[in-house]
This record gives sequence, C-alpha cells and structure tokens, in this order.
Amino acid sequence: MRRLKQMEDVPVQRQGCASPRSMRLDKAMEEQKDLEKWGQPPDWNLRLKTSSIDRDGIFAGEKIPKGSVVIEYVGEVVRHVQSNRRERRYHAKGVESTYMFRFDRDMIIDATNVGNLARFINHSCQPNCDTTAKVINGQKRVLFVAAKDIKEGEELTIDYQLKPEEDESKRVPCNCNTPHCRKYLY
Ligand SMILES: [Zn+2]
Repeated sequence: MRRLKQMEDVPVQRQGCASPRSMRLDKAMEEQKDLEKWGQPPDWNLRLKTSSIDRDGIFAGEKIPKGSVVIEYVGEVVRHVQSNRRERRYHAKGVESTYMFRFDRDMIIDATNVGNLARFINHSCQPNCDTTAKVINGQKRVLFVAAKDIKEGEELTIDYQLKPEEDESKRVPCNCNTPHCRKYLY
C-alpha cells in the first residue's frame, strides 16, 4: 500500500480560505484570480513509466518551468475516521494498491477508486515538486508545483514527509537515490 505523506508540516497557502458566506469582496476577487491561476492546472505532457524509486512513477514528457502547477491530486475527499474504515474495507477485499493522500485529519484524498495520474507520484528526499493546497470555490484542492525547472524525461517527485517507524525492523527503505536521502521512506 502506498500511504502518501502526512502533511501537517507542509506550508499551506492560507489566503482565500474564508467560507464563501463570510468572504469579503477583496477576498472574492483574490479567489477569482486564484481560480484563473490554479483552477485549471495546465495540461502538461506527463507519462506513467517504470521508476527506479518504486514501481511506476510520473515522468515529465516536456520541460516544466519552476513555479508551474504540474498536476492536481484528484480523489474522493474523506475524513480521518472514514479513511480508516476504507482502509480496513480495502484490506478485507484484498485490494493491494490503495492511494490515500493525508492532508490533515479532516482531509484525506482517497484516489483508490477515483483518481488521476497524480496518485502515482513517488517520494524523494530531495523532490522536484512542492505540495500546496488552495481553497477554490470553497473546496480545498491539493496541487503539486514545480520546485525547480524540470527537464524532459525527469521523474516527478514530492516529499511524503512520513515519520520513520520507531521499530527499526519495520522501517521501509527509501530508494530516491539523492545525495541527502534520509534512508527510510517511513
Ligand atoms: Zn530518500
């Protein structure tokens, strides 16, 4: 099972998070600008290929400039309790690959049944994409943004930021192969 990152420590852009009812005009305009900027991530040429990090990964089919929204993590938004229930259900059904992106306790995106290519993004201790969240039309959306200029053919990665298991024997090694690898995925 690929358990995507715990994101408590990830910087979240707070602007535009007001509920629509309480939103002031300037906020609304700001959100409109955000919508134009973030609402439709550009349709980059991305490919699913075998990865040296873990099984399949997403690769850039063209150059992607730093700061570009690369892809949105799409799935069913569930709460913590629901996600635990779902995981048990998937386990009972023998579903081998589940994809849960833990944003915080109130927002877990389950891309097991409904999702896009983003669910295949691999972890790297020195990733080329940052994770950010934006509230657009009252809905929190998770986006991966190029943290540097990405070359054609480069694998896209994010930092899952998982805490390593206390019991060393249960730890899962990291295969990111970067100079500052933390050795363990979790
Ligand atoms: Zn690593």
